[in-house]
Formats: sequence, structure tokens, C-alpha cells
Amino acid sequence: MKKLLITAIVVFVGLSVTAQSALDTLLPVRGLAVAAPRPAALDDFISFIDKELAPAHFNMLILRVEYNFAYERRPELRDTDHLTKTDVKKLVNICKKHNIQLIPLFDLLGHQSSRTRLGNLLREYPEFDETPKVELLTENIYPNPQGLIMKSYCPRHPQVHEVVFDIIDELLDAFEADWFHAGMDEVFYIGEEQCPRCKGVDKAELFAEEVRNIHTHLKNRNSRMMIWGDRLIDGRMTGTGMWEGSMNSTHRAIDMIPKDVFICDWHYDQADLTPVLFAAKGFDVAICPWRKPDITVTELNTMIQFRKQGALVMRQRFAGIIQTVWHSAEQLLREYYNPNPDGPKETATLSLKKLMEEIKILAEKVL
Ligand SMILES: [Zn+2]
Repeated sequence: MKKLLITAIVVFVGLSVTAQSALDTLLPVRGLAVAAPRPAALDDFISFIDKELAPAHFNMLILRVEYNFAYERRPELRDTDHLTKTDVKKLVNICKKHNIQLIPLFDLLGHQSSRTRLGNLLREYPEFDETPKVELLTENIYPNPQGLIMKSYCPRHPQVHEVVFDIIDELLDAFEADWFHAGMDEVFYIGEEQCPRCKGVDKAELFAEEVRNIHTHLKNRNSRMMIWGDRLIDGRMTGTGMWEGSMNSTHRAIDMIPKDVFICDWHYDQADLTPVLFAAKGFDVAICPWRKPDITVTELNTMIQFRKQGALVMRQRFAGIIQTVWHSAEQLLREYYNPNPDGPKETATLSLKKLMEEIKILAEKVL
């Protein structure tokens, strides 16, 4: 009887491994990108990973950590309310339990302020500001005379990488990660006239140079780099515009960066076909939807189709799909467990739920 039971367990485990690998073949990356929870919501978020994400076959979790961590080498960067190393270890453990790849994200280069508030990096190191003459607004207004959307750090400031690499190293260590998401999306201030180091330099070269600097640091730590794809897309030629594409001349950087940078190609209002652009340039790419469940399903099916047609070398680069959630983990949990039936029908949480359903259906098909 015992032998029979062991045989049954072996057969069951064998079957489930086969099913998992069949799903991995169909769609290798099934991810969620969201802000890291604050300590008060940590246990609920861990339960969400355990009870919801893992059973929906998600295998990648990108957490926007930013200043929500007890940095030791740069304690001045910590938010008041932040995760400790012990907190992060709990996230590491639950992700290990379910073979979910846990990837810390910290916004580098761009996203160093809102229109009204500095991020902690420029607050503590104002000398890194690419546009020190641009003052923050008292109200969140755009367009505004200075064209301020958000600030960038100067990638050629001689001290900026000492700080940035400390942040990366501490996050890689705490999250026990061998991948790092460096953000680098929506960089609007780059190569500005008021920066003595960057003035007049090709913006594509400046962007690519910063990718290469971070990539080299990560490579030395045997870690892989991820970035958002928008600065590498010609916003005019592709019709993706100034957000999902680049209208500030950075797009030629696509030919100036290492091919093993993993691209998170985000498109929210229509299922743009730009993953083909990245794959044809030699990059692994995941499509990243946001809040429109029907677009999410189209993007999912497009990636699955891309993996089935054309040259094998291209097919393999269409890695999968990563749902983006731009509000807090706390809001995600609230909306997930207590949905408002009269609320909006297009939210990141509803898109995530739809994606989870679709992936469960895919998994059942390959079982
Ligand atoms: Zn500069």
C-alpha cells in the first residue's frame, strides 16, 4: 500500500511537472508588477501570493520597492514606513515555495519626482538633478511652462552611480534576486541644456550609456537587467506617442544596448505589435497590459500566437506577459477581495483577475 501511495505521488508530481513545463513552453513568463506592500499589509500580500497568484500559475513577481526598504548603506533614502530585511525574507520564502521569480524594481534615470514632490534620491542628493533650474509646481498641472512631468537624475554626474549601485546591491542581496528591474521608463529630461555634462550630447547615446553602466554592474553580480521598453520605441513612426514610445530622440538606443536586457513592453489602450520590434532586434520581451481587460486578453493571445509562428529564434524571444498595477499593493488587495460591483470596469485589478482566469484556462488545456 505504501509503495502504491509513493508510486501515486511520483506519478502525480511527474504529471504536474509535465503540465507546468507544457505551460512554460506555451507562455514562459506569467508575471505581475506592483508596488511592494508596506509592512502593515505584508502578511495579507503574502497570503495573496500563496492563495491567488501561485494557483493561477504566475511565476514572476516584480515589486516596485523604491524607498520602501531599510537601506543600510544609504539609510537617508528610506521612507519612514519601510520593509525590513526580515519582511523581505518572508516575501522571498513564499516566492521560493511556489517557484515564483521575485524581482526588485527601483526607478533609475527618470521618475525622480512627481510634478510637485521630489523623490528621496534627489531630496537627499540635489546635486544629481538633471534640471536644477526646473522648480517643482505647487499644483499638479500639465502642460506647464517648464514642461515638467517628472525629474531625472544626471547619468553623467560623477557620484550618482556610487549611490545607485549601493541601492541595487542591497536590493539584490535582500531579495536574493538574480534579476533586477531598473525602470528607466518615461525619461523626459535627458541631455538638457542646463546640465553642463549632458548638454549637446546625443540623447540616445546618453540613455544607452546609462543602460550599459547599470547592465555592467548587474553582469558583475551575475544578474540580469530588465527595463521598460518605451524609450527604445520611435513614438512618431509607430504611433505609440510620447509615453508608450519616445518622442525625445532616445529610440535609437535600441541599437546601442546589450541584447540580453529583458524588455517589458507596456501598451495600455491598444495591443501594439512592438514586441516584434524588440524580438527582431534580438531582445527577450514580455508584453505588459494595465487596466483594460479586453486589451489584456488580446495581448496575451498575441504573444501566444507569436510563439507559434515564424522562425524559431524569434518565437523564443516572446517571453510572455506581465500585468502592471500602478497603484499600491494595499489597493490591489482591497479591490481584489472586496470588489465594488458598481465601480469602473477598467481597472488594473480587474485586468489582473481576467489574466489569472485566462492563464488558468490555458493551464487546464495543457494538463
Ligand atoms: Zn546631465
